Amino acid sequence: LTEEERDVLERIDREGIDFLRLQFTDILGTVKNVSVPADQAEKAFTEGIYFDGSSIEGFVRIQESDMRLKPDASTFAVLPWRDTSARLICDVIDTSTGEPFEGDPRAVLKNALERAEEMGYEVNAAPEPEFFLFEEDEEGRATTKTNDAGGYFDVAPKDLASDVRRDIIYGLEDMGFDIEASHHEVAEGQHEINFEYDDALSTADNVATFRTVVRAIAAQHDLHATFMPKPIPKINGSGMHTHISLFQDGENAFHDEDDEFDLSETAKQFTAGILEHAPALAAVTNPTVNSYKRLVPGYEAPVYVAWSDRNRSALIRKPAARVPASSRIEARFPDPSCNPYLAFAVLIHAGLDGVEKGLDCPDPIRENIYEFDEQKREEYGIETLPTNLGEAVDALEDDDTIYEALGPHVGPKFVEAKSTEFAEYLVDVSDWELDRYLEKF
Ligand code: GLN
Ligand code: MG
Ligand code: MG
Ligand code: MG
Repeated sequence: LTEEERDVLERIDREGIDFLRLQFTDILGTVKNVSVPADQAEKAFTEGIYFDGSSIEGFVRIQESDMRLKPDASTFAVLPWRDTSARLICDVIDTSTGEPFEGDPRAVLKNALERAEEMGYEVNAAPEPEFFLFEEDEEGRATTKTNDAGGYFDVAPKDLASDVRRDIIYGLEDMGFDIEASHHEVAEGQHEINFEYDDALSTADNVATFRTVVRAIAAQHDLHATFMPKPIPKINGSGMHTHISLFQDGENAFHDEDDEFDLSETAKQFTAGILEHAPALAAVTNPTVNSYKRLVPGYEAPVYVAWSDRNRSALIRKPAARVPASSRIEARFPDPSCNPYLAFAVLIHAGLDGVEKGLDCPDPIRENIYEFDEQKREEYGIETLPTNLGEAVDALEDDDTIYEALGPHVGPKFVEAKSTEFAEYLVDVSDWELDRYLEKF
């Protein structure tokens, strides 16, 4: 046992933990867990816990279904809503080879980080997940009725959700989060909680945990928290802006004080890489049919493949940095329905591809691109993101760099799952169509 693992055993003892939830995520980003009695902890660390991977979305075929969970001791946290249970995030091991399972999203991200490390970089990331709080009906099912009518940065009493938000923040802090800020977002019932940046793997773990905690604590208040990107038409949707920076030898490799934008050549090449691969990235960072209802002009979500040091209609923004260490870029297109491990993995590969190839970064766009007409966009050479999931999946299949970033297991499974999802959507008949056509024709 490592020292960290021994510490965990001690805490289990000291804090009276009865159950351990061993967590991992499937390809779609859904958190799965296997619960074991706490006295299995030592065995979990030394031998791992076996489970049947055939029942997990996109994992393996039936005949090769044995998987082993290897808990990462650094992720130990007591669940605030059930204080005799603790969770550990796990790596999934393929029992036939003893190697990390290629279908584990956490392994896909680790591969991206390994590539960064080989190039001399550490990757930091910080997300800004937004979500809605909706009332439940009598049967406890989610509605789309918001429980408040607050707006951007409103404070109570208009922002009735601030009690819930406070409890959510306490819950997150109990689980070890450093909360930077929380506020009511632009839309009714919409909220945002920001937490401290960390290395990209810890941040992806944190996003998975964050969604679980927010939903669990909202439920205690009889509310349904949703990370669906666009639950209500014609008002803002929920994004998960993701701030990224590369560090080299403990210094921020994105900072250059002699540059007009304080950005190093590396930062610009990284940005160029993301812009270059944006259509394919969208399939992973915006992976649902509903994601594309958010990516439309007029609701502070990006549509155009450009970057800016000023306005928020671009795909990537360069936020003002107070100190050199905080120089970073903000990818504004991801949404919180993504699998954070896969989303960060493809963003990192796209950026590193830009660095490796020394791609030229276009000039920033300083005007509001929402107001550009097609001719002006053409003049500036600005492409648009895919307009639906089908186009995004096609772009992913056409982009070797991003498709391969997902690895030989996740790539095909992801494309298969998302193509099926889009095909099902295409043959459905929506309420919009019925409202529009049923009586008219
Ligand atoms: N909700 C917006 C989006 O979809 C962002 C709004 C904001 O954070 N200013 O990305
Ligand atoms: Mg924000
Ligand atoms: Mg926001
Ligand atoms: Mg932001």
